[in-house]
Amino acid sequence: MRSEIICVGTELLLGQILNTNSKFISEKLADNGVDCFFQTTVGDNELRLIDAIKVAESRADIIILTGGLGPTEDDLTKGALAKHLGIGLVLHETSQQRIVEFFEKRQIEMSQNNIKQAEILIDSTPFLNENGLAVGLGYKKNNTKYIILPGPPKECERMFINYAIPYILDYQPVKEQIYSKSLRFLGISESKLAEVCSDVINSQTDPTIGTLTGKYDVLLRLTTKAKNESEAESKFLIPIEQIKNLVGEYLYCYDDEDIFEKLIISLKEKKLTIASAESFTGGGFSQKLTNISGASAVVRGSICAYHNKIKEELLGISHNVINDFGAVSEECAREMSIKISNLFKSDIGISFTGVAGPDEQEGKRVGTIYISITINNITHAYNLNLHGNREIIREKALLYACIKLLKII
Ligand code: AMP
Ligand code: MG
Repeated sequence: MRSEIICVGTELLLGQILNTNSKFISEKLADNGVDCFFQTTVGDNELRLIDAIKVAESRADIIILTGGLGPTEDDLTKGALAKHLGIGLVLHETSQQRIVEFFEKRQIEMSQNNIKQAEILIDSTPFLNENGLAVGLGYKKNNTKYIILPGPPKECERMFINYAIPYILDYQPVKEQIYSKSLRFLGISESKLAEVCSDVINSQTDPTIGTLTGKYDVLLRLTTKAKNESEAESKFLIPIEQIKNLVGEYLYCYDDEDIFEKLIISLKEKKLTIASAESFTGGGFSQKLTNISGASAVVRGSICAYHNKIKEELLGISHNVINDFGAVSEECAREMSIKISNLFKSDIGISFTGVAGPDEQEGKRVGTIYISITINNITHAYNLNLHGNREIIREKALLYACIKLLKII
């Protein structure tokens, strides 16, 4: 079964509201093993809507329309489909009654176009709107199923689950669902990742594998159909091993794992405390850690030593280090992590100094970063050359630091 979603509403095209119906419906279709190959958005315009329906008919067995079921002139989804299929509209009695009662109860005068919301295609299956007034419907013609749902997300979502899904599946229980797993990489570009893994990506048909970019990292996503999660996981095993052999050094987590949470758990298990001295990250590392509940067991605190005077006066970095090597230097980073662990009496001291941009600093280019980690009196320093804007450089540095720490401890 191939499905296509058509969202109707000029407000969607103007970017005035987020298309959450598409996201919701797609997610539920995948959960129920129904492929969705296209999502179309079209304004409140009859000609263009009928065009979109014709295109969908050429490539989908199930066409799901949402939006345009309101009482006003610009709500024309049912009328457009009726016109296109050459079928009349009739009033659905139960829905008509509900609309009349709705206005009577509130003692508001009902205008005649409100009744329009009770219309359905002749011979269609009505979908009751349990969260609103406009009735939805399912209609079958020549092996194509048409589904019409209201636009307001609360109404659309409930109707989709309670009526549309059983209609699509002919009331049959779910046989297979679509499962995905993402592998997340840092320190490698999407093109390089695709190139190095090209044999695995190109030879795989089940699961299928594709690359995509995250905000700060790149991903490989594996997708398969399976009866349950453990069947899906077993299908993922071999390709993941192959990918790890090729680019395992850049792999840092799966799906939406929070690596800062992982770090807190790991620090707790190993009974290690931590303190940070931060310059260009402005306390970002400390914030990431303290976002996690239970962080107080391991986090001692942080000094945001943004200005060089603070590096010297509060942290105790020697004036000579800053003078001779600069604040953005391995020497300064090393002193910062040593000093913070001494000051805060923590097992681990971590420091950040670098150039987040947009301007160069001390003649060092934007993205020049030093991270230093002192643990059990041994100091490990790292020099990174990161790309992106100020926010991306800062966020990437925090991720790198977390990954390095996880490896060290
Ligand atoms: P309708 O009268 O059926 O066109 O939809 C009424 C309201 O539903 C619109 O004003 C939007 O706020 C909301 N809506 C319509 N389509 C969507 C969509 N695809 N995603 C989220 N909200 C939507
Ligand atoms: Mg609308």
